[in-house]
Amino acid sequence: MQEFDAIIIGGSYAGLSAALALGRSRRRVLVLDTGRPCNRQTPHSHNFLTQDGATPTALRAQARAEVQHYPTIELRADEALTATALPGGGFRIETAAGASLTASKLLLATGVIDLLPALPGFAECWGISVLHCPYCHGYEVAEQRLGVIGNGEMGFAFARLIHNWSRQLTLFTDGPATLSPAQLQTLARHGITVVETPLAGIVHTQGQLQAVQLADGSARPLDAVFARVPFEQAGTLARQLGCAFTEMGHVQVDDFQRTSVPDVFAAGDATTPFRAVSAAVAAGGKAGALINMELIEERF
Ligand SMILES: Cc1cc2nc3c(=O)[nH]c(=O)nc-3n(C[C@H](O)[C@H](O)[C@H](O)COP(=O)(O)OP(=O)(O)OC[C@H]3O[C@@H](n4cnc5c(N)ncnc54)[C@H](O)[C@@H]3O)c2cc1C
Repeated sequence: MQEFDAIIIGGSYAGLSAALALGRSRRRVLVLDTGRPCNRQTPHSHNFLTQDGATPTALRAQARAEVQHYPTIELRADEALTATALPGGGFRIETAAGASLTASKLLLATGVIDLLPALPGFAECWGISVLHCPYCHGYEVAEQRLGVIGNGEMGFAFARLIHNWSRQLTLFTDGPATLSPAQLQTLARHGITVVETPLAGIVHTQGQLQAVQLADGSARPLDAVFARVPFEQAGTLARQLGCAFTEMGHVQVDDFQRTSVPDVFAAGDATTPFRAVSAAVAAGGKAGALINMELIEERF
């Protein structure tokens, strides 16, 4: 008999949503969380129905309060360091605080780490005025002076997308453009300026972008910039457990949030490029229900 029916690693949108489903199924659940959701620097979260415009802090506080209503759920501020499968079934988790815990099922809801470029000012503006997603933050900067950082096919597609929100748009290719002549013509036809001069930094006041500084010493005054950055998984637990990954680097899951390793589930940003609070909450809820269903099938 394991200590917990399920241990959920990561207590943000996906993890807490799964905990809610499991707590309501009267399962003994432990949620381990280091409290660093990827959207923590953004002032307001948008596009999550009933909570549009809420601060991430308020969302997190409400989610934790709702989950703590259920007596079989324990929330613990601790980091899961290692995960190992036990010979007789179930898993052992060792934590940074020195705890050794066992559970029948695991849910990885650990999210991803955005790998921000070393460009001065970029990190300070991330989520405030350097934005990754127009559905999350585009409406608030509509028809303002916007920039897109990108090049080639991705840069073209991103500029085309952001043009939906503003006609005052500049595409920064950060070096020689790798756009086709046809793409350059299309951008010009839509009034999108292409700047090839390498970037030198983001000029800002407390995260609010003022201008994009270029390597030739000039600056382009702007209100916000959209940029896509690479990511890595937050931690190595999925790798330790032997989970399969997609080509893009997400933990591979099926329609029921099951990974390639039996009894290990994953949900949220760790598993999908479609990053949204709503998507993480939905996936977490599904994982919680499926974990409960498997426990019923195994024990009934
Ligand atoms: C800057 C920014 C702004 C965004 N704005 C919006 C928005 O306005 N609207 C919207 O819908 N979406 C927005 N998103 C996307 C949204 O924030 C994510 O889709 C969502 O946070 C994913 O939830 P998650 O639970 O999968 O991961 P996260 O919210 O990133 O949480 C992962 C949790 O796991 C914890 N953790 C990681 N490893 C361990 C470990 N080993 N042990 C214990 N705990 C661990 C972390 O500390 C963290 O609390 C934004 C994203 C970014 C980056």
